[in-house]
Amino acid sequence: MNDIIISLFEDVLKEDIEANLKISSIKLLGGGCINSASKIETNHGDYFAKWNSNCPPNLFVREAESLNELIKVNSSLKIPQVIAFSEPQANLPAYLITEFIDPSINSKKIQDEQLGRGLAEIHQFKNENFGFYSDNYCGATLQDNTWNIDCVGFYSNQRILHLANLIYKNGVWGTSELKLLDQFLSSIKNLISHKPQPSLNHGDLWSGNYLYSSEGPALIDPASYYADREFDLSLTTMFGGFSDGFWNAYNEAFPLPNDWKTRNEIYMLYHYMNHFYLFGGGYGNQALSIVKKYL
Ligand code: ADP
Repeated sequence: MNDIIISLFEDVLKEDIEANLKISSIKLLGGGCINSASKIETNHGDYFAKWNSNCPPNLFVREAESLNELIKVNSSLKIPQVIAFSEPQANLPAYLITEFIDPSINSKKIQDEQLGRGLAEIHQFKNENFGFYSDNYCGATLQDNTWNIDCVGFYSNQRILHLANLIYKNGVWGTSELKLLDQFLSSIKNLISHKPQPSLNHGDLWSGNYLYSSEGPALIDPASYYADREFDLSLTTMFGGFSDGFWNAYNEAFPLPNDWKTRNEIYMLYHYMNHFYLFGGGYGNQALSIVKKYL
């Protein structure tokens, strides 16, 4: 981490926290997928910062908006307070600074259950429409969050087709894959028939995006929008990392429809496609094998 970035963060923290604040140390953190991240220790507490010189300029503006929406719920989960964020300026990267969550895996079993109950609270925070106030990013992928009254239309056009077009523009998929997706989308119309209300979604809820802390479970790195809560849960089921305790607590607090698993892979498709778009590899074939199951 270079001195210019350190002095940028010190200036920002001086302005937002305390004029005599001094950074005492910076510890780089691993585990993220897209950005550089670190713990900043100061004489006025610890902070979390992430930054990127080569990302969509408003990436962190949008992440801050998602964090603030999750904070609005006032749920039992810890959501890091946003301190500052910026688009890139001159030779400085885009960045986001938030409260630092001190990780602690003490009482994992209890925190698993708290996470389930807390997510249920977030999913009970509703909107009349599907979408969000502005487009945002899952990883670095632009999401079309234009408000939509229709659940299937939102998922089909603003998630699957939107992303399929980005993959197509990269020259990775051709017209045959787009045709398969069109067929898939006509056949799933009747399968998403449970009339969900638009719930606040974390939007990128894999096991790397929650932290256990001395203050209980925290959600980090959101890409939020209002959608079927089963959309959020599809990523949760995709790579594991969520225990039976989590699922039982979630279901007790906000029971899922009996047939929710019949839609699980339909919603997973978006995340397989997004992983393919971001990371390449075998995710593309996993996406297409889901598509072919529904033709
Ligand atoms: P990326 O946007 O690159 O995916 P993340 O937001 O996932 O990055 O964060 C990168 C690393 O920093 C992860 O190890 C994560 O656990 C940790 N982290 C993220 N937010 C905080 C926070 N507020 N407090 C403490 N650690 C955090």
